Amino acid sequence: MISLAEARAYVLDRCSLLAGRKVPLGGAAGCVTAEPVVAAEAVPPFANSAMDGFAVRAADTAGAAEDRPVRLVVVATVAAGAPATTPVGAGQAVRIMTGAPMPPGADAVVLVERSRPVGDEVDLTLEVAPGTSVREAGGDVRPGDEVLAAGVVLGPAHLGVLASLGLDRVMVVGRPVVGVLSTGDELVPRGRPLGPGQIRDSNRAMLLALVAAGGGTAVDLGWVPDDEAALEAALVDGARRCDALVTSGGVSMGDFDVVKVVLDRIAEMRWMQIAIKPAKPFAFGLLGRASDAAHVPVFGLPGNPVSSLVSFELLARPALRRMAGHHHLDRPAVTAVADAPLDRRPDGKAHYVRVRTGFDGERFHARPVAAQGSHQLAATAGADGLAVLPDGHGIPAGGTVEVLLLDAESSLRPLP
Ligand code: AMP
Ligand code: MG
Repeated sequence: MISLAEARAYVLDRCSLLAGRKVPLGGAAGCVTAEPVVAAEAVPPFANSAMDGFAVRAADTAGAAEDRPVRLVVVATVAAGAPATTPVGAGQAVRIMTGAPMPPGADAVVLVERSRPVGDEVDLTLEVAPGTSVREAGGDVRPGDEVLAAGVVLGPAHLGVLASLGLDRVMVVGRPVVGVLSTGDELVPRGRPLGPGQIRDSNRAMLLALVAAGGGTAVDLGWVPDDEAALEAALVDGARRCDALVTSGGVSMGDFDVVKVVLDRIAEMRWMQIAIKPAKPFAFGLLGRASDAAHVPVFGLPGNPVSSLVSFELLARPALRRMAGHHHLDRPAVTAVADAPLDRRPDGKAHYVRVRTGFDGERFHARPVAAQGSHQLAATAGADGLAVLPDGHGIPAGGTVEVLLLDAESSLRPLP
């Protein structure tokens, strides 16, 4: 057996950053910027009002108060989206809407709540300093500002900033296109009745969703039986269309050799036994792509659904994130209190126990889900964390344990 750290390092070493590409903002959320973005224009592009009210010369409001209004002549109205052509002279005001350009001569805005109309004039009851309720040109972004560094994970506000600069595309590290393939004679395709000894394919739906949730573009490569020619054709076709491949099944010791034989023939594989439970068997390799010099990483995950999930989380997900340019590759880890005992026996492996987690405002808590078999996916579906039990006798109730958070938002809520 090798350590998880060794397996992870081996995999990460062989998964390199994808090339940068310009993508429309609409498809860029979650992608990582491949280069800095420097503003070519100012935001806002012109000084404008932060309030509905009256654009004035601040000096004209000296001494204004509720019981001592100053009276100004209203010479124009300016709405958002219209040019402000009428200047504000001494003793004058322009009615102005939020976002409308400041008229020449005005240097402050008195909000409408502090005004009383008097025919063509207005009484203002607030003394304002120059700049009050004015949003300066470039007050958000100045031309030449670096608004985004390289390596930023684009969120909604970043995309809004790019749009505010008039950009409709952004240079990002490519989103890995990841093909997911299920193997094994025992699997029945969706919609067919189960024959004797047959089971349904749980892993493909799960792995496709894990790829997508991890920021990849998931490609369903379907199911292939334990047949060398069919498997080779599916893998070669997948490698042509994808940046990485994820297979499940056929990598453990006792398996019929089909997956091993085929992958060994077409890819440079390393077959591993990792000192973890679940997900001990794991294979990784690089598949040559005829069309170019690139090699396509292949993640051979074990077939048991819970093992598949844990293997993906610990090995494939960090690698796909590296390909996509992320700096944080792993799930966040916290120290949690074990609300119930986390029992185990020494066996030379680290155990990844599926837990429900919660935060009580001070500490994280972890409770194991009821069923921990590597075939018991239904119980695992109720977990939002993996408690890491080092080799040994486990952790008593009240002890602390490291937990990888699979859904940090869920983990930040209190446990019921
Ligand atoms: P294997 O890794 O091929 O030895 O498979 C281990 C276990 O996982 C066996 O019980 C398989 O039937 C099961 N298995 C393999 N692939 C899948 C799948 N796609 N969905 C559900 N179970 C699977
Ligand atoms: Mg199998």
